[in-house]
Amino acid sequence: MSNTDNRTVRVRYAPSPTGPQHIGGIRTALFGWLYARHHGGQFILRIEDTDRTRYVEGSVDLILDAFNWLGMDIDEGPVQGGDYGPYVQSERLDLYQKWANWLVDNGKAYKCFATPDELAEMRKAGTGYDRRYRDINPEKIAELEAEGRDYVIRFKMPLDGKTVGDDLIRGTVEFDNSELQDAVILKSDGFPTYHLAHVVDDHHMEISHVTRAIEWLSSYPLHIQIWDAIGWEKPKFAHLPVFLNPNGKGKLSKRSSSFDSDGHKVPVLIHEFIELGYLPEAVMNFLTNIGWNFGDDQEIFTTKEAIERFELQDVNPANSAYPVAKLDWLNGQYMQTADVDYLEGLLKPILENAGFTVDSDRLKQVIPILQVRLKSLNDVVDMAGFFFDDWDNFTAPSQDILLQKKMDANSTKEVLEKSLPVLEALDNFAHDKQYEAMKTFAKESGFKNGQVFGTLRAAVTAQKVSPPTFETMEILGKDESIRRIKLAIESL
Ligand code: GLU
Repeated sequence: MSNTDNRTVRVRYAPSPTGPQHIGGIRTALFGWLYARHHGGQFILRIEDTDRTRYVEGSVDLILDAFNWLGMDIDEGPVQGGDYGPYVQSERLDLYQKWANWLVDNGKAYKCFATPDELAEMRKAGTGYDRRYRDINPEKIAELEAEGRDYVIRFKMPLDGKTVGDDLIRGTVEFDNSELQDAVILKSDGFPTYHLAHVVDDHHMEISHVTRAIEWLSSYPLHIQIWDAIGWEKPKFAHLPVFLNPNGKGKLSKRSSSFDSDGHKVPVLIHEFIELGYLPEAVMNFLTNIGWNFGDDQEIFTTKEAIERFELQDVNPANSAYPVAKLDWLNGQYMQTADVDYLEGLLKPILENAGFTVDSDRLKQVIPILQVRLKSLNDVVDMAGFFFDDWDNFTAPSQDILLQKKMDANSTKEVLEKSLPVLEALDNFAHDKQYEAMKTFAKESGFKNGQVFGTLRAAVTAQKVSPPTFETMEILGKDESIRRIKLAIESL
């Protein structure tokens, strides 16, 4: 389906700067971004910082870092600039005040002088705001203003009838006006609320599509009324589904460090994905595939491929459980096919942080035999750290590592002593040559392949888990492998 509007597609992501972005927010941004890119439009970052009590210093940098890591580029925003700035709401207060006053002057909004005590009373009565200042006469207003009473500006919602809106994902949505309040649009400190600020900005920034979380659907009728009261052409709206917890119950927790029933850590902040060793490509694929389907039963696709197919109309309206287990699988898939140089750049600092001194050439030799086994970048430390230890300090493994299933010290020693001359005799120490030789050896000596290969693995790596035995020995080299096997024999 193509864009039904002939306006240029301009989609914004409008986070409040309240700290690192939760993955739900990132997914909202991602769907807007995919749509903008599909239609060759613009993607705009707007910072909605009108709630000063929730402001967290440094949030914008965190948002930009997250976008950058995922490879989502921004066309206009507080750092990028653009023709529709400023892109930070606290720098646009005049504009909101102008339109709030315009609404008051045109009878669409009113000054409400309710004191904190009055509001508390109404809250206690459970009625919500009872519109007591909606129809007071101009003299009374002048009098209250002369007294210097604080006021907010409230929007005059129609008292009856229905407000009908369109949603690209949900179709026609209808609301009874009688159930809606006269919401505050400008606070007494001159700051707008979200309701007014985003309408004013979406208009002035010529936003064509508002993509936002489903939470905003309930105030959508208020927004429609504000758009119509001013008489601006509305953008199209898409209220996106949100993530539920992995067990399908309740909205995905905002707190980090929770675990699903299988013990998977449930990352919800971008830095947690990074710390857990996920590749950005895998995370993008994972997020794109929740609530939207690539089609053709295809689970793995690039961002570029997703852009070619993505339409907001195809988003599933239902909220989905956060399928965190799938992320490990996807990450493994991406790891398997990733470019060696690319992985080298990512794995090297992880090994270095774990205290290893890493030679890049050796790491590049190791990656091809390792990458099929990695679920997380961090697995490199346990799986292949030994390649970067000081080889001169290598010591034979203890027996609990060395002895394989159904093997004891004697049979282990026998395997090692007898395989030694076979390996020593090899002129070509390529892994396939070793494999052929040791397979023949196993057959002739009556040991199982697994027993022979596993014993050698343990002897040369001093680990239970490692990349494949013969590939590992090839990288260690013949002399070092033989030396290690001898150390193992001596230890028995
Ligand atoms: N500032 C709002 C939020 O963070 C934005 C909602 C919207 O995208 O319009 O939820």
